[in-house]
Amino acid sequence: MESVLHVRAFEDNYIWLIRGHSPNQVAIVDPGDADAVCNALDRLALVPIAILCTHHHWDHTNGNQALAARYAIPIYGPANENIAGVTHALREGDEIALDELGLAFTVLELPGHTLGHIAFYGAGMLFCGDTLFSVGCGRLFEGTAAQMHDSLMKLADLPDATHVYCGHEYTLANIRFARNVEPDNTALLKRYDEVTGQLRNGRPSLPSTIGAEKATNPFLRADSAQVRANAERHVGAALDTELDVFAALRRWKDNFRG
Ligand code: ZN
Ligand code: FE
Repeated sequence: MESVLHVRAFEDNYIWLIRGHSPNQVAIVDPGDADAVCNALDRLALVPIAILCTHHHWDHTNGNQALAARYAIPIYGPANENIAGVTHALREGDEIALDELGLAFTVLELPGHTLGHIAFYGAGMLFCGDTLFSVGCGRLFEGTAAQMHDSLMKLADLPDATHVYCGHEYTLANIRFARNVEPDNTALLKRYDEVTGQLRNGRPSLPSTIGAEKATNPFLRADSAQVRANAERHVGAALDTELDVFAALRRWKDNFRG
């Protein structure tokens, strides 16, 4: 049975270690910091068999080449981005079989945060980098609001029980924004209590689930009357489509100081 361990890096990054049916082998997701990963691997007596890379930002890739060299392991990454050391360039629908772990993942292309951003989906788990955060989503550094909206809708179509592993611990700040957007959402109030408890105990607020995100994440809730009304109030104009609501929320959040 698979399990996922986390390594903290920088301010708030998570580097995920995916363990499959063998107890001491892992795949590493988005190792921005090679030293942090090596320390965790040594401490836990784990051996990495591959690196999975969601997008080109340094905080997700800086450790790639040092780790690949030290352990002689492949790097799986997006075909549409320039990332040094990638050995397996992946596109939408590609399947990767990590035989040592007994796990396989399907590649989803998710443009928005960056243009070539991908996610890895398999065994009831989603590793989605900086596209979907718990109660939030990534900033639009390269893509358009329409691209990000399509990418998020694609993730919302995954089964509700899917465990969502994001690239950063942003949940509490995201909830502060979401409560302004949708103050009457009781699922959001419960999530706030849950997350404050997890963080107080030094635990991550992740993984989330697709079902929990559909209930709490304003960026997946442009169809909610209160979300729409508050987005319209914020921009001072009617918003015709869910995409318009999404784009207004993204701009609102960009300038939000909770
Ligand atoms: Zn990023
Ligand atoms: Fe990041």
